[in-house]
Amino acid sequence: MVAERFAGVFPSPLLQDLGIQLRMEICAEYTRLAATVETILSKLTHLTSRHLDLFKSGDFAATKRLDRELELTIGEKERAIGALRQHMLEHKCQAGKPI
Ligand SMILES: [Zn+2]
Repeated sequence: MVAERFAGVFPSPLLQDLGIQLRMEICAEYTRLAATVETILSKLTHLTSRHLDLFKSGDFAATKRLDRELELTIGEKERAIGALRQHMLEHKCQAGKPI
């Protein structure tokens, strides 16, 4: 349904003066998938920072535990980026090449 694909209409005064309405498509699924990638990348940043601190402190047992968590999160990141790439290839809702 067209209404679902257009999450917003962004009127431009200049273009409206010319009788042109600018419509910018916002794909809700793209937004959701991109937000998931951002969340996981932020988590990786946090985990990597903690990992470095633990390694520097010499707490190798904790370092090893966190290493496993990092590996799992990297797997999550790969799947999230894969899902986003697949969506971009199939839906073509974004300008430019897929991630
Ligand atoms: Zn889309």
